[in-house]
Amino acid sequence: MTTANLLDFDLEGLAAFCERLGEKRFRATQLFRWIHQRGASDFAQMTDLAKSLREKLATAARVEALPVITQHESADGTIKWLFDVGDGNAVEAVFIPEDDRGTLCVSSQAGCAVGCRFCSTGHQGFSRNLTTGEITAQLWFAEHFLRKHLGRAERVISNVVMMGMGEPLQNYAALVPALRTMLDDNAYGLSRRRVTVSTSGVVPMIDRLGGDCPVALAVSLHAPNDALRDDLVPLNRKYPIVELLEACKRYLAHAPRDFITFEYCMLDGVNDQPEHARQLLDLVRSAGVSCKFNLIPFNPFPASGLLRSPQPRVLAFAKVLSEAGIVTTVRKTRGDDIDAACGQLAGDVKDRTHAAERMAQRRTVILHPASRQAATPTAEEQ
Ligand code: SAH
Ligand code: SF4
Repeated sequence: MTTANLLDFDLEGLAAFCERLGEKRFRATQLFRWIHQRGASDFAQMTDLAKSLREKLATAARVEALPVITQHESADGTIKWLFDVGDGNAVEAVFIPEDDRGTLCVSSQAGCAVGCRFCSTGHQGFSRNLTTGEITAQLWFAEHFLRKHLGRAERVISNVVMMGMGEPLQNYAALVPALRTMLDDNAYGLSRRRVTVSTSGVVPMIDRLGGDCPVALAVSLHAPNDALRDDLVPLNRKYPIVELLEACKRYLAHAPRDFITFEYCMLDGVNDQPEHARQLLDLVRSAGVSCKFNLIPFNPFPASGLLRSPQPRVLAFAKVLSEAGIVTTVRKTRGDDIDAACGQLAGDVKDRTHAAERMAQRRTVILHPASRQAATPTAEEQ
C-alpha cells in the first residue's frame, strides 16, 4: 500500500485524511503541530496521540522530507540547499539571515516554462510542478534543521518568499495548501505580510490568489513598455503590462499590505536608463497602483549574454523613482560566493519542454553601450 505523505496536506486536508482513517477531525490539529511545530516525523514520538491512531498512521502515512544533495553555507550566513526531487531533477532553497528576520526563499517548480531571458532557471527549461509536499518540505526541513544548527528553541524562519526556482502561479493548486500551512498558527504561524508570492504576471491566478489566500505580492516587472517586456519576460505577450497592472490594482483590495512590490532586474544597457525610470513612473501613475520598487542587481551567468548595470546607473534610476515619491530599494546581493543569489538558482532540470533549446534559438537583444542606447533596444533575428 502506498502511504500518504502528510507534508502534502494543509490542516483542512489533514483533517479529511484523519476522517478517512475513522478518526475525529480535531486529531489533525495535534498531528499538524507535532509535524510542523516540533519537526516530528516518527509517529511513535507523538505520545499524546492515542496508541491506536499512532498505529494507524504507521501503516497509512509518512512524513517525508526531500533528500538533501548538497548544502552550502556562505560567509554571510546564507545557506543554500539542493534537494533531490527524483528523476534527475533537483531544486534549491536558500536561507537568508538578517538582524531582524530570517527569510527562506522557496522553489515551486523544477525549472520554469516562462523562460525569462535574464534567469538561469528559465534557461534550463521546465520539467514539472512540485507537489504541495515538496514545497512544504523545503520549509519543514529548513526550519527544523536551522533550529538545531543555530541552537535555537524558537522559530528561526520569520519570512518566506516564493522566489526560488519556478513560477509559483503556474503551479497554483499545489501552492495554495503550502501557503496555508505557512500561515497556520498550528504550523509556522507566519503573518500574511511575511509570506510573499513573486510572479512574472500570471494575471488570472493573481485574481484567484486574492480570493483564496491573499499574501504579500511581488510582481517581476523588469521593463516599462510591452516591446521590451515581451522580449525579457515572454509571458508578457499573453498578459501585457496594462492587464497586469489592472490585476495588481484588483489584488490590492485583498492584499495584507497596501502596496505591490515591483521587482526590476537592472540589465546593463537594456532597461536601466533614466528614460525607462520615467516611463515606469507614467505607467504606475496612470494605472493608479500603489507600489514600491525593488531594484535587483542582475546576477550574470554566461548563457544570458547580459551584464549587470553599473552601481551609479542603478542609483540614478532609483533616484528618479524615489524623487517622484515611490519608495525604492536596491536589493543587497547575498550568498554571492555560493551562487545563491536571485536568478542563480539553477538546480538540475530535465528539460521536458525543450525550452532551453528554443531559448538558445530565440532572437537576441543586441546591446549597445549605454551612451548610445535608445529607450527600447534594437532586436534582430540571429
Ligand atoms: N518566477 C517568479 C519567482 C522566481 S524568480 C518571478 O519571476 O517572479 C524571483 C526573482 O528573481 C524575480 O524577480 C526574478 O525576476 C529575479 N531574477 C531572475 N533571474 C535573475 C538574475 N539573473 N539576476 C537577478 N534577479 C533575477
Ligand atoms: Fe521563471 Fe521567474 Fe525565472 Fe522568469 S524569472 S524564468 S518566471 S523563475
